[in-house]
Amino acid sequence: MYHNPFNPFTDEHNLLRLSFREFLSREIMPYIEEWEQNKHCEASVFRKMGEQGYFGVTFPSEYGGSNMDLWSAVVIAEELAHANCGGLAMSLYAHTYLPLPLINSLGSEWQKQTYLAPALRGEKIAALAITEPGAGSDVGGIQTTAQDHGDYFVLNGSKMFITNGTIADFVVVVTRTGPGYDMSLFIVDTHTPGFRAIPVKNKLGMHSSDTAQLFLEDCIVPRQNLIGDKSNGFYYIMNNIQEERLIACVMGTATAEFALYKAMQYTKEREAFGKQIGKFQVIRHKMAKNGYRCRGLPLNGIPRRTRILEKGPEAIKIVSMAKAFICERAFDVVNEALQIHGGWGYMEDYGLARALRDTRLMTVGAGTTEVMHEIISKMIVDDVRHQRQFVKARAGAELS
Ligand SMILES: Cc1cc2nc3c(=O)[nH]c(=O)nc-3n(C[C@H](O)[C@H](O)[C@H](O)COP(=O)(O)OP(=O)(O)OC[C@H]3O[C@@H](n4cnc5c(N)ncnc54)[C@H](O)[C@@H]3O)c2cc1C
Repeated sequence: MYHNPFNPFTDEHNLLRLSFREFLSREIMPYIEEWEQNKHCEASVFRKMGEQGYFGVTFPSEYGGSNMDLWSAVVIAEELAHANCGGLAMSLYAHTYLPLPLINSLGSEWQKQTYLAPALRGEKIAALAITEPGAGSDVGGIQTTAQDHGDYFVLNGSKMFITNGTIADFVVVVTRTGPGYDMSLFIVDTHTPGFRAIPVKNKLGMHSSDTAQLFLEDCIVPRQNLIGDKSNGFYYIMNNIQEERLIACVMGTATAEFALYKAMQYTKEREAFGKQIGKFQVIRHKMAKNGYRCRGLPLNGIPRRTRILEKGPEAIKIVSMAKAFICERAFDVVNEALQIHGGWGYMEDYGLARALRDTRLMTVGAGTTEVMHEIISKMIVDDVRHQRQFVKARAGAELS
């Protein structure tokens, strides 16, 4: 049988896709409108996802995961995006791919049993708190402090825009433990005295996700809740963020594909001036342009090669390029799909109004496009410098 070498999905992935699609249509799709209105999803959806093992696909079996590769996470992310529930997808993603990989790769056995395993079962909801009212892109500028008292730390400060903030059972909090990049990560139980979460309700989109401002006032956190080594938190966060950005790329691409598909259907249904709008050359060209934008969104190239995560600094450059390119283009594709729907696109009926609101976050969250450009430009300058040194060294060797 012919096997497409560029298709990374195995039979196991395909089965996962079918079962998750069925789960979505049964347990999620019927409630999306209600969650969008209420501006948060129900905690029960986390339990249902956990019971079916959908949180744990890439995590080790000792903690309830199924030890599959990153392609299984791609399957879940793609299906969520095709279901056009950006807010819910963000809540689930902020639970699974922001705090949990940190505990999985750096946490103690006690932390894994107490937080990771119940989170994978959907019994505990998790969040990651980096951003503060005064510092987002500039992670080095955070002000939340953790004072070392031996057996425990005392945390003080405030965090902003934290997904799952009011529904979380625990939050991985990034704190300052010294000057410069001396930062440490703590797992903070949300029932800790001094911890408060206030919902942020005035968002443009992502309505079914919960967003909160957090306050930590003299929160006493036991030393056993410190993740990894004290003072290394900044580097832990920077390493973890590549996987988070890669999943954001997958969601961006799948949302663009969803919008393109909706537009394609509409061009066949809608008539104007006595013919299907898809017969107008200008609409056909729009479809062509957005078609190659979707194909060009490097899902088939860059993020599809998830092994790039193993490539260290090279991965940072490639993932940053993918994040900047995909998130900008995904918004353009959704915007054009809405345009093709005319006035109906502006209504909630076809799902494009929601997709547009939700996709708008993609160029801001998980690192803004401008910050991606900063990373890429610095790394390209380094590449050019290395190439020059290489050419000089080779010329020198040939002359001697
Ligand atoms: C709905 C939502 C959910 C979120 N969920 C979470 C979460 O779960 N956890 C969490 O920790 N955070 C979360 N965030 C925060 C998000 O990651 C930050 O908003 C984002 O990183 C940008 O930070 P900022 O808002 O402080 O903007 P700023 O950093 O203040 O940036 C403002 C502008 O300046 C530009 N800029 C900044 N630095 C540079 C530079 N060096 N060069 C060029 N331009 C620059 C930016 O690109 C941007 O355009 C969420 C945000 C939203 C809106």
